Amino acid sequence: MKRARFGRRSGLPREAEELLRLAGGLAESHSRAEDAFWEHKLADAVDGLLQAGQEDSLNAALDHLYASSTQGYEELADMLESRAECGAQSRNDANVLLLAAPLLAWSRFSIPSSTLPTTVLANLRVHLRAHVLADGVKLALANALFSPDQLPQGYCETARFAAELGECALRDQDLPIDQETLPETTRFLSDVRYALFAIAAKPGAPLFSWQEGDGTRDVAAAQWRSQGGACLTPLLAGCAMETVLPDAFFAGCREADSASRPYSVRASVAFLSTTLDVAPDKLRAVVAAFHDRQLEEYRIGFTTLDNNSVLHGVVWPLLGAEDENGDVPAQIETALRECGINEILQLDQRFPLEYCDDCGAPMYPSPEGEAAHAELPEDKAEQVPKHLH
Ligand SMILES: [Zn+2]
Repeated sequence: MKRARFGRRSGLPREAEELLRLAGGLAESHSRAEDAFWEHKLADAVDGLLQAGQEDSLNAALDHLYASSTQGYEELADMLESRAECGAQSRNDANVLLLAAPLLAWSRFSIPSSTLPTTVLANLRVHLRAHVLADGVKLALANALFSPDQLPQGYCETARFAAELGECALRDQDLPIDQETLPETTRFLSDVRYALFAIAAKPGAPLFSWQEGDGTRDVAAAQWRSQGGACLTPLLAGCAMETVLPDAFFAGCREADSASRPYSVRASVAFLSTTLDVAPDKLRAVVAAFHDRQLEEYRIGFTTLDNNSVLHGVVWPLLGAEDENGDVPAQIETALRECGINEILQLDQRFPLEYCDDCGAPMYPSPEGEAAHAELPEDKAEQVPKHLH
């Protein structure tokens, strides 16, 4: 009688099991020589799945490792990001890498996500070469300013985009983006925009200016802030803006997520202060933790000192492994104090992760400990677009 076959140990797809085996080998290796063996095998396996668009298998392997092996999870996540950023291809003649140049911006009106005109592209190219990239690196810019919801979504889509832009980088040519293919952007008071570009460098050659001579990241960041930011100013009329030093795609996006939290607090305080004509020290901030099944995010409600109505709010999302045990409330308090707000109320109670049924805006904590809809006084609200959250 034919015996029932045993199911695979984890119930995972076969490809995902192979990733677990290779990431596990890498996690347990104690020498560079053994690392190199596992890394090579893991890179090949990851490239195959990225090229085949097997996003589910990649995520299944990540989820499994997240629950069972911290080190294995880190190794696989690292490898997935780095293979996606290089287009899931190994070349003998060049190293190709997808990069992001994030911009933090806020506006009472609307932050554009648009096509980058030829003159701006040419300017960006000059300043990336002068301040951020190593000599002799070839470069391709995508001719769009992307909002977060327009970025490539997922590892496979990122790898496909990196391969396409990387091909352009080998020819030192920019890539036109069809705006019609990009999803519509949700409008926020404060948000991030990304210029995306790929570079191609000879194997073993430096990629960035800080890998050469006496270059440093700090010098590059300062120069990029003044010169690179200036290139984009004409596109962002009516917006206040700060740049973040360009970096490999995933690291650049993470850095932007992190920098955008205090930035959006500053934007909210500046917005309220000018709209209401009230100094920041006449504003109060109410901070509370919002939970779904677990802690999801912190939200900050703003009022004036003499009134309990929530006028505006901002969400402070959790990043990476952050949870209730971290120092997030202290970071929020620091960001608020740096804006000149002295009256800060940290509420202990757990709020449910509520949104307005009508407009979908998050509900913010009020000084009375309630979840409130942020509303500007009517005469002030007329000056700004509706649904600006
Ligand atoms: Zn609403």
